[in-house]
Amino acid sequence: MERKRIDLIRGARVAFEDWDPHQQYDIFLKDGNIKAILSHEPSLSFTGENVLDAQNHLIAPSLCHAHIHLDKCFLLSDPKYADLEIEKGDFQEALELTSKAKGRFEKDDLIRRGRWLIGESIAAGVTHMRAFVEVDHIVEFKCLDAAIELKKQFATACEIQICAFAQDPIYSGEYGGMNRELMIQAIQNEHVEVLGTTPYVEETTSASDQNMDWAVNTAINFKKHMDFHLDYNLDPNQKARTWYAIELAILSFKTAWKADKTIALGHCTRLTLLDQKEWRSLAKRTADLPFYFIGLPTSDIYMRGKPNEDEAGGERVRGTLQIPQMIQKYGLRGAISINNVGNAFTPQGSCDPLSLASMGVGLYHVGTKADSQLLYECVSRGAKEAIGYASSPIAVREEANLVLFDMGRAGGPLSQQRGRRTLQEIVYDPPKERKTIYKGHLINA
Ligand SMILES: [Zn+2]
Repeated sequence: MERKRIDLIRGARVAFEDWDPHQQYDIFLKDGNIKAILSHEPSLSFTGENVLDAQNHLIAPSLCHAHIHLDKCFLLSDPKYADLEIEKGDFQEALELTSKAKGRFEKDDLIRRGRWLIGESIAAGVTHMRAFVEVDHIVEFKCLDAAIELKKQFATACEIQICAFAQDPIYSGEYGGMNRELMIQAIQNEHVEVLGTTPYVEETTSASDQNMDWAVNTAINFKKHMDFHLDYNLDPNQKARTWYAIELAILSFKTAWKADKTIALGHCTRLTLLDQKEWRSLAKRTADLPFYFIGLPTSDIYMRGKPNEDEAGGERVRGTLQIPQMIQKYGLRGAISINNVGNAFTPQGSCDPLSLASMGVGLYHVGTKADSQLLYECVSRGAKEAIGYASSPIAVREEANLVLFDMGRAGGPLSQQRGRRTLQEIVYDPPKERKTIYKGHLINA
């Protein structure tokens, strides 16, 4: 991992705030922050190795994974797990394959696969991520220990926020109690900033309630962010558990929840069945709460709604939260994220959050300039805000976490390629060439 301090980004176009996107700017950096933004002055010959020549390309806030599983990434790419191929492609099989893989997790492959994920993410423009690592009787603290080591290895290149995550039941089955004990130990680790659970894996509704009660109380006691993976179904006969999460947050938030902590709800595909009245009611009830809905479209549309063999060819529903509409129409808060890469839950896709924003144009039917800006925010500043980081604008005195697009094309006849002129072009067709700046440093992952 190479890292170079940048004092000046020269001749960049700024795709955000009130900056004129047609004008070039010189952006001066100091101590990791933006010190000044001035109109580009071509006659001034600032040179040197700490000057980054933007060559009239677009610069924008860096990207963020609001929700990504660090420990079970790239199981389909690692030769160690080559025998665990997808044969059916359904949710049950994904649980079984991942459970088998977890039984074989060791530090060296957790670190190897984790480095792939973090390295590819940084190359895509990511500077912040919420990394889920499972804690249970199978892996105990192996995934957590590897995540802490990766967090240290990448400390100068990327903000890795660790979520101790109970993917398995903590109130049902043979190992529920043991899983809960291990989670209690994990949450006390100083490197763990988030508590995450999966209430839908519990065997009964009352166990699911207990899971949520315990999670909220524990997150408050240990002053952690909260992250539920919730309502991962499209069944109109199952009551959405999100309502219960809201009740718990209302009860506890007023008295105990720290103002700088957020509550993220991932998946929530069941909510796509709500009608307008229910959406309005949900928006009203969460208006004063730090609630953020995280849509996970690549996983959701792959996993949810797959018909049974004998129904194939019939109605093929797909469900994922309509995050842009939830923000624009109902005033809710949200982001979109990758969730999984290279495993049985989500075999397709990359570590690039911008690929989700691009897919979102068609998926959510949103194609205007304002929509593109919103989609970009959903994988950038909105995503950072959802997981508790400041959503810093491109402005003087703000931290310099930036991504510069369309770099690296120089020389030769094939370099006569179009450059993206606007932010919406970046969203419609994300350029592969990017330069990532984290706290004023150019990161070469
Ligand atoms: Zn997830």
